[in-house]
Amino acid sequence: MTVVPLPATQLWGTGLAGNPRRVADALRTLGPCTRAELVAATGLSRPTVTATVAELSSAGLVTEGVGNGGRLGGGRPASVVRLTRSAGLAVGVDIGRRHVRVAIAELSHQILAEQEVRLVEDADDNPKPVLDLAADLVGRVLHEVCAAGTDVVGIGLGIPAPITLAGRIGSPMLLPGWEHLAPAAEFADRLGVPVLLNNDANLGALGEYRWGAGRGCPVLVYVKLATGIGAGIVLDGRLFVGSAGTAGELGHVTIDARGPVCRCGNRGCVELSAGGRALLEQARLTYPELADVSDLIRMANAGDPGCRRLLSDAGALIGIALSGLVNLINPDRIVVGGELGGATDLMLEPMRRGLAESAMPAAVTAVQVTRGELADRACALGGVAVVLRGAPTR
Ligand SMILES: [Zn+2]
Repeated sequence: MTVVPLPATQLWGTGLAGNPRRVADALRTLGPCTRAELVAATGLSRPTVTATVAELSSAGLVTEGVGNGGRLGGGRPASVVRLTRSAGLAVGVDIGRRHVRVAIAELSHQILAEQEVRLVEDADDNPKPVLDLAADLVGRVLHEVCAAGTDVVGIGLGIPAPITLAGRIGSPMLLPGWEHLAPAAEFADRLGVPVLLNNDANLGALGEYRWGAGRGCPVLVYVKLATGIGAGIVLDGRLFVGSAGTAGELGHVTIDARGPVCRCGNRGCVELSAGGRALLEQARLTYPELADVSDLIRMANAGDPGCRRLLSDAGALIGIALSGLVNLINPDRIVVGGELGGATDLMLEPMRRGLAESAMPAAVTAVQVTRGELADRACALGGVAVVLRGAPTR
C-alpha cells in the first residue's frame, strides 16, 4: 500500500517534519511495522530508521515491543513499532437514513470504542439535526475513551449519496434534503476537526478491506444492501471513485429499460426492484404490519415463503446488475454487507446464479461472493480507515 502524507492543514504531525514525519506517516498508513518494514516503506536506511524511531519514542509518539503486529509474517516474533495514543485518534462517522454510528481508533489501527443511535426521523429530511446528533455522539464516544476533540486528527464521514471530488452531493435527487449543504464543512464547524466526506458504500469497502472480509484483496467490490443499493471498489488498497467521484452507483444500473421511473430520473434501476425500500413495499402488500426491513428479514429467516422468495429474487437481480461490473473489472471478491446483509444466506446463492447467467464465465469463476464480516460496523470503520490512509479518496 502506498504511504500517503496527510494534508498539512490537518492537525496530524504538528511539529513533525523530515524523517520523523516519513516514519510516522508509514506507521499511520500501514499500522504497526517491524523496522525492516519501515525501511521498505520509507526508503530510509536501517540506521536512519533506528535513529528516527528512537527520536519518536523519546517524544512519546511511538512504542516498541515484541508482537505479531508485523506485516511480513513467518519466523520468530519480531520487534514491532507502533504509534501511541499521544500521536492522535481517528474517528469514523456513518450517517444512514435511520442511524448514526461512530467509531474511534488509535493511529496504531486499534479500535477503541463504537456507538450507534437509531434515528426516529428520516435523516434525508433533517440534515442539520442529524449532524448535531452525530457531533454529540462523537463527543460521547470520545468521553468514553477519556479523550477530547483536540486528540482527533481527522474524521471520515459517510453519507448514503454519491459524493463528488469537490465534496458535494453528486445527485441531489438521491438525498434531496442535503442538496444545499456542504456536509464536511458543516460537520467540521461543529467539532473543530478536519472532515473527509465520502459515500457510505465506499467507506464500507475500505472498512472490509482493512478489518473484514476483504482484507488484502487486490480487486475488491463491496456491495451495500440497505434502503438503497450501493457499491464501493478498492483496487490494490486504494478506493476507486472515478473521474467525478461517483463510481459504484450499483443501485442505479438499469435492469429493465421499460421499467418504472426511478428517483434518479432513469428507468428500471435495480434498486426499484431489489432495494430494501422496494422489498418492504412489496412485502407489505401481504403483510401490512411490517415495520421495517429487519421485520422482513426476521420473517424470511423464520421460514415465511413469501418473504424468502422476495429476498432470493432480489439476490438474483442484484447478481445480474453486478455482471457488468464483473465483466469490466474482473474482481477477486465481492463482499456483501448492509442492512440486508442479515439475509445473505438467502440472497448470496441467487446472486451467484444471477451473475453466472449474465457475466463472462472466466470472470464468474474467478470471483468469490461472500458476506461481510463487519456487518453494520463496516462504514464507520471505513471512516476511520480514510483518516488512517490520509487521503479522502484516491
Ligand atoms: Zn435510479
